Amino acid sequence: MTMYTTQSTSLAQQAIALEERYGAHNYHPLPVVLSRGEGVYVWDVNEKQYFDFLSAYSAVSQGHCHPRIVGAMIEQAGRLTLTSRAFYNDQLGLCEKFLCEYFGYDKVLMMNAGVEGGETALKLTRKWAYKIKGIPQNEAKMVFAEGNFWGRTIAAISSSNETSSTNDFGPLLPGYLQVPYNDLPALEALFKADSNIAGFMVEPIQGEAGVVVPDEGYLRGVRDLCTKYNVLFIADEVQTGIGRTGRRLACDHEGVKPDLLVLGKALSGGTMPVSAVLADDEIMLTLKPGEHGSTYGGNPLACAVTMAALNVVQDERLAENAEAMGQIFRDRMNALRAKTDLVTLVRGKGLLNAIVIAPRPAFGDETAWELCLRFCDNGLLAKPTHGDKIRFAPPLVITEEQMHEACDIIERTVLAF
Ligand code: PLP
Repeated sequence: MTMYTTQSTSLAQQAIALEERYGAHNYHPLPVVLSRGEGVYVWDVNEKQYFDFLSAYSAVSQGHCHPRIVGAMIEQAGRLTLTSRAFYNDQLGLCEKFLCEYFGYDKVLMMNAGVEGGETALKLTRKWAYKIKGIPQNEAKMVFAEGNFWGRTIAAISSSNETSSTNDFGPLLPGYLQVPYNDLPALEALFKADSNIAGFMVEPIQGEAGVVVPDEGYLRGVRDLCTKYNVLFIADEVQTGIGRTGRRLACDHEGVKPDLLVLGKALSGGTMPVSAVLADDEIMLTLKPGEHGSTYGGNPLACAVTMAALNVVQDERLAENAEAMGQIFRDRMNALRAKTDLVTLVRGKGLLNAIVIAPRPAFGDETAWELCLRFCDNGLLAKPTHGDKIRFAPPLVITEEQMHEACDIIERTVLAF
């Protein structure tokens, strides 16, 4: 492995060697070993400081180790962490009320990883299809947009177009249909042709696909078509939600309310896995005791942390900051694009952005990766997604001064490449 990073000391090498030897080889990390974080910064084992422009795939939106979130976590951890749902606990109801009022739904179901949120939404949609819509048993179909990503379980990869996600993991689940992203006529044609379609699950901006932003009006169109054909609109806002795109939810940009809202990642400010599905009673009350759940889902620790994490987003006006800082970022990146043919496109909303890189002959498909190694050397962490795209998603607490400093690093690195 080429070590461009300056921390090629034994401490870092030891940590990498341990993962290599004892961990499954299911990730390809940049060769940087982190040991500490605060706000927009992380430090490696040699105390070198970096801007974190990945934020754990948008989970650490409130910044690393936010004192209010960590404080709530420590306080709750000292009282009660887990009861299971076999009993009531004194935090879950409070958190459920908080989430319903925050996002404007009748009910919420809390889980852990984001992928469990998607899975829960699919189960609810199927249940609704049989109990309310009247689709014959076992015939409900789900529509997904091409390029979607919602996790790594069999249910999630069954909707994937990525062969690296699906190869050698079949058989995949039946009952899934695909439609091109950002294509309302194609979606309507599908809905029209098949009355057994129960739901359409879609990311308001496709994160893992490389921050693909649909045309304005797409989400409004999806809402209208779902209403017209009695199909549930499931918004996967696991990555886009909670201030990331400059609004409370990415759907808020178009003023649309999905039937099911899936949240995760920043719901806990990067402290522990917490996900949630929100829906109104007609959908949520189709689930009966014993039909769905999770040992850790809705645990009191997660509830205390979630309320603190969302209060931080509101009190610190993080969505508003994401909107303003995102504009600065894209302006700076577009100015950079005018100076080099290495950057071919800048796109995104709020603080979920990406640049598209033109491959250099010396590096081919590895160009974006090589560039990220150099960003790392220069004190900024970002990772390529889909080969030629680099996603930039810093914590939403970033200040204007920090943003300019980070953009200076990106500019300097790109121009020197
Ligand atoms: N949905 C979206 C849009 C995501 O980006 C991700 C993860 O990147 C998930 C769902 C899955 O979340 P998790 O990795 O917590 O299971």
